[in-house]
This record gives sequence, structure tokens and C-alpha cells, in this order.
Amino acid sequence: MVRFTVLASGSKGNSTVVSGGRTRILVDAGLSCRELFRRMRAVGEEPERLDAIIVTHEHQDHVSGLSVTARKLGIPVYFTEATYSAWKRWITPHHKMSYAEWREQGRKQAAERQAEAVEAEDADPEEREAEGTLAAVEAAAQEAMAQETAVKPAPHKADPSWLPAVEHFQPGKPFTIGDISVSPFTTPHDAVDPVGFVLGAEGIRIGYATDLGYIPPNVREQLRELNLLLIESNHDLEMLRDGPYPWSIKQRVLSRVGHLSNDATAEFLSTVYDGRASYIILGHISENNNLPELVRVSAERALSARPSLVTDHLLLARQREPLSSICF
Ligand SMILES: [Zn+2]
Ligand SMILES: [Zn+2]
Repeated sequence: MVRFTVLASGSKGNSTVVSGGRTRILVDAGLSCRELFRRMRAVGEEPERLDAIIVTHEHQDHVSGLSVTARKLGIPVYFTEATYSAWKRWITPHHKMSYAEWREQGRKQAAERQAEAVEAEDADPEEREAEGTLAAVEAAAQEAMAQETAVKPAPHKADPSWLPAVEHFQPGKPFTIGDISVSPFTTPHDAVDPVGFVLGAEGIRIGYATDLGYIPPNVREQLRELNLLLIESNHDLEMLRDGPYPWSIKQRVLSRVGHLSNDATAEFLSTVYDGRASYIILGHISENNNLPELVRVSAERALSARPSLVTDHLLLARQREPLSSICF
């Protein structure tokens, strides 16, 4: 069974759990670890069974709980290389040692320890004579393990950017995590290397596209033949123009690297979109510059030619509580 649960969606935090086969992944971790766990348990997902976290981009509403969650569960985090670097810069306080300096220090300490070990070995010819005995094999194995630990810098929990494991992916290059296939695609947004995903498992395809200023051809291409589409419907144009944000932020949201308006999403749904998905979830809905009714009316109008989708299967993701799981 494939299960898709939006735990939170919006400018105060984004996170979704996707499970398929024996694999369970978190897309973004934009709530505190505590809150993520609480919401997962509320929808019947066990946090301890998560296998990995995949990250769309480095904005805080997508990564604020990332390191604590990954550390607590001891699971890998998948980023593009540029997003990982940006995240690391963001999370590392400037007054502390930088990650690079810390790695360099670790490398130096490891080299010193290795040099000491080699000297000790040279000074003890009897040890080599004992080669071949079981005790010697065991001792060698232990020493090899000790050296291996010495080569890797010890987990430095004081460094906020330390993660149990980091994996890099590239937009346009699909990869798999256990039973789930992940196809990352580039999105136009004001982050260093933002992506959306098409996730596949058990023959089900799920499109995940939030945080994008418009829908370019490569994104249109990806959002086809899906069983479920999560797309943002961020703001109402009039509410944004007349709303409380300073002009600079309004410009940012409206730009080609900002967010999709209700109108932009509606236009996509009524024209380019193939209408194949059984479910459409509208997400990243602004709490200041939008209203759920406006989002719904706009999308319903756009999908009026497909009434079956509108009745039960057009859903609005929420900021403050999870959406019921969708299962296939
Ligand atoms: Zn966002
Ligand atoms: Zn963003």
C-alpha cells in the first residue's frame, strides 16, 4: 500500500510522509522534531520507521526540524549538493568553528593518531612474529577498526550541521530509496537549487510541487500521468497586493522565483494539466494572503470539466494539522 500524508503545509512549516513497499520517507522537515513526531503518531505513522528525509530546498519552512529529526532517528538526508552547502551555512553559527575547519581538524587528529600507531608497530618486532595466530588476527582486526574510527572525525554533536549520513542527488537524475523511486526536477524559486519530486512506488506516481514562481515546461512535463498531485496555491493576487506585507516581500512572492497564485495554479489545472490524478492537494496556502474558500473556488472552477475530481478528491493541505492520509 502507498500512503501519502501531509503533516503540515505553508510558510510556517512543510512536511509530508510517503510510504510505499517497506520504505517510508519524509519530504522536508519544516516543523520541530517534537511536532513532527506528534503529528506522525496522530495519523498512525511511526516516526521510528522512517528510512530517510529528502529536501526540496533550504528555506527554513522546509528544514527547521531537519537535523534534530535525522539525528534522533539516525537516518540519512538527501539534498542536492548546493542545497546541502546552503543549509550548512545557514545552520552553522558564525562565531563557532566552521564545518570545513572542523573537518580539517578531524583529519589532522586522525593523521597524528595514525602516525603514532605506525611508530608503535615499528618499535615492536615481536608483535609481527605472532602473525597467523588467532589472537594476532583478532588484535589486527581491532586495530583496523580503531584506525577506521580515527580516520572519520568522531560525530561532533556540538556542530549543528552534523548529520548521521548525507546523500546527494541531482535534479533530472532519478534515484531510489528502498522501494520508493524519486525523480527530482528543478523548480523556479529563490533558493540555491530548489526541486520538486515525482515519487513512485507500487506503480503509483505522486507529484510534489510547492515553492515555485511559475510552471516552466520541465515541471509541466513531470506533472503528468500522476495518481496524486500536490501543488501549491499560495496566494490570492488581490489579497497579496492589498495585504500587510512590505512591498519588497510582495515583489518576491509575485516574482518568477516566488510562489504560485490561485490564478496561476487554476490556469495550469484548466489548461496544461492532463487531469489523470485521482487526488489533487492544494498546498502552501498563505495564512495572510489567501483564504481556503478562495483556493477551493478557484481550483473547482478550473476543474469544472472534471466533476469527479472536485467532489471528494480536491483537498486543501493545512498548516496547523495534518491532512488525513491518502492510500492507494
Ligand atoms: Zn516554502
Ligand atoms: Zn521556499
